[in-house]
Amino acid sequence: MIPVPTRSQRVVHWFRNDLRLRDNRALSAAAARAGELVALFVFDDRLLAGDGAGAPRIRFLLASLERLRADLATRGHPLVLRRGDPAREVPAFARAVKADELHWNADYGPYARRRDAAVRSAVSRDGVAVREHKDRVVYSEAELRTQGGDAFRVYSPFRNAWWRRWAEAPERPEGPLRLPKPVPAIQSGSLPTAAELDAEGDSIELPTAGEAAARRRLDAFLDGPVERYADGRDRPDLDATSRLSPYLRLGAISPRVCFERAFAAERERPRMRPGLRKWLDELIWREFYVAVLAAHPHVVTRSFRPEFDALRWEEDEAGFRAWCEGRTGYPFVDAAMRQLAQTGWMHNRARMVVASFLTKDLGIDWRRGERFFQSRLIDGDLASNNGGWQWAASTGTDAQPWFRIFDPVTQGERFDPEGAYVRRFVPELSGSPDRYLQRPWEAPTPPRDYPAPIVDHAERRAWTLRRFEAVRPAPAARGGRATRNREQESRDGATDRRRGRGKNLELF
Ligand SMILES: Cc1cc2nc3c(=O)[nH]c(=O)nc-3n(C[C@H](O)[C@H](O)[C@H](O)COP(=O)(O)OP(=O)(O)OC[C@H]3O[C@@H](n4cnc5c(N)ncnc54)[C@H](O)[C@@H]3O)c2cc1C
Repeated sequence: MIPVPTRSQRVVHWFRNDLRLRDNRALSAAAARAGELVALFVFDDRLLAGDGAGAPRIRFLLASLERLRADLATRGHPLVLRRGDPAREVPAFARAVKADELHWNADYGPYARRRDAAVRSAVSRDGVAVREHKDRVVYSEAELRTQGGDAFRVYSPFRNAWWRRWAEAPERPEGPLRLPKPVPAIQSGSLPTAAELDAEGDSIELPTAGEAAARRRLDAFLDGPVERYADGRDRPDLDATSRLSPYLRLGAISPRVCFERAFAAERERPRMRPGLRKWLDELIWREFYVAVLAAHPHVVTRSFRPEFDALRWEEDEAGFRAWCEGRTGYPFVDAAMRQLAQTGWMHNRARMVVASFLTKDLGIDWRRGERFFQSRLIDGDLASNNGGWQWAASTGTDAQPWFRIFDPVTQGERFDPEGAYVRRFVPELSGSPDRYLQRPWEAPTPPRDYPAPIVDHAERRAWTLRRFEAVRPAPAARGGRATRNREQESRDGATDRRRGRGKNLELF
């Protein structure tokens, strides 16, 4: 039975990865049910101290909270800030303000789920009702299942099921937010400084944070660049993608708003359709990886496909350091790693190539690369980062087949054809002739201040094929439930293809 709202209630909205006021499902529901409302954010010491949060993302979080606090203040509401273990801080706060209800938006990682279960059980003992809402994704993993009722393991059928669901039950953004009165006599706490959170020490210039900036960026992208997205999205030398990932990561904008705005743009300018549809499919990759994480939490520590847990990874500290510092001697890889160091963001094509290089050319465990990305990316996100790394390492759900190994030279020649990306981030090569830019060691006089390749790609490719060959299961050994699931999904996919849906089965 749906509880009848009584507006005399005192309600707490706990902000987490949803730092916005508009189209925020939990906040809207809390506001609709509350007589008095108070907004809370907790700096979780475990997340601040762990691998999960590097300095640039913490500073972006602080800037996003600053904006959120200002947005709330213009509506007469404080943002209460606490620091510590949410399992203690949230129940203590709910008790202190005598809350009747506590609302939050669902989070899907295993740590977040344990944390939320602990908060739920603590506040329930105090008689506070918890209401969890779906917000981070348009459709959750529980809403999208194969015909056999299992979680999807392959992107294309997931995407087709996603679009079918959209056709039946599209999820639109919430209407305007009407906030009730604030809980009296509660002040906004002061935000910690970056230094207090140990988040200084680099010169990365962050994008403007906050909800308004996210919407401006979306509008600017839909106003032009999206037109060439289908062709340009693989070119790191062009500014052809939305760069919305840091905003989506902290929830400064909702996926529903992205879909709604994209459809509005398509209605106004139908010629944008190919770019827009391709872009929306990328947003569905994001939802796919959230679904994978929710259904298969073991991916956080292990390979999605257990057979690849038997792979032996190299302890190559010098190789790892060269990769981190952008000094591998492969210009496209080095440009990408320096883009990450200098901007806190990296282009998707470049992420795929550097992840392949680390795991397949250097044979280093994907988890080390994943952690490094997580500590450097402003958009570092458990689901997408883990999904991207396991894809590149061929250990994941719908991964790059293990025998496909990116050649860092040809990838550079193809996706940075004029060399603008390499020249921008690897100044040692700025004067290099086009012909040798992606393979400077072949130049008659190789640049003196740029390293020679740390490995020979052709040799490493053959070596990696042998490593994978040794652990992949023999065809007769394949079977069991996982295989049956995949077969069921391919049947779903085949049906989709017969019906003319999901023509593009290519990954990325
Ligand atoms: C090894 C690796 C690690 C990655 N780590 C992250 C990460 O930590 N955080 C993150 O947000 N993305 C990650 N990605 C996915 C992708 O690279 C970024 O989402 C994208 O580059 C962000 O740029 P954009 O906002 O301009 O994307 P656009 O091309 O404009 O796409 C729009 C949005 O769709 C989503 N999206 C696009 N591509 C993907 C994808 N392949 N997987 C999941 N979502 C996607 C993002 O939310 C993105 O903002 C990773 C990819 C790889 C290969």
